[in-house]
Amino acid sequence: MIRHHPDDALLLALAADRLARGPAVVTATHVERCSHCRARLRDLDAVGGALLEDAEPALLAPEALARTLARIDAGEAHTSVPKPPVRSRAEMRFLASLPAGMTWPRSLRGSTTTPWRWLGPGMRWSRVTLADDRAANVFLLRIAAGKSLPSHTHDGIELTQVLHGAFHDGRERFDAGDFDEADGRVHHQPVVEPGGECICLASVEGRVAFDGRIAQVLCSLVGM
Ligand SMILES: [Zn+2]
Repeated sequence: MIRHHPDDALLLALAADRLARGPAVVTATHVERCSHCRARLRDLDAVGGALLEDAEPALLAPEALARTLARIDAGEAHTSVPKPPVRSRAEMRFLASLPAGMTWPRSLRGSTTTPWRWLGPGMRWSRVTLADDRAANVFLLRIAAGKSLPSHTHDGIELTQVLHGAFHDGRERFDAGDFDEADGRVHHQPVVEPGGECICLASVEGRVAFDGRIAQVLCSLVGM
């Protein structure tokens, strides 16, 4: 069961095309898997006029919510009539490296991924390059059972969507399907639950500040 969702402000920003591509893809990955958030988007659409006008009308594209819902509905239609996408050999190899039972998000279609790279003991990562914004800082983290990311905080917004497995960050437990938004007020150390590895999709705006010297060196190597 999904317990952690994007807040209304983030859903509205997604619907209104006001998010940068990285955060938009991570949030859309949550929405495609979460019936609660799809219903919430429809509720926001129903009260939309007033709500959107109270927000920042100059920045909102007209009919943006309706368009977003149509896109999501079109995605749902695709799942019922699957059309095999054309995939490169590298992409096939990457998809084959994923754990059994893990669904590859529709929001990542057209994106490319690097092979898994070593980040630390039990920790690997893959850079995700979005087709429509190659500079967006989006990546996958793959962490073994019981391992943890070094403790860190951020000077920007970090969005995380759990694709597989579960972790606990000292505040809350996050299962597959859960979404997390962290900023500079959050200082956390995600620890993967025992019993299975965890794969997350994340976007980071601004820099991540790790506590330890080794962690800082590692992260500058990988450009995080
Ligand atoms: Zn949700």
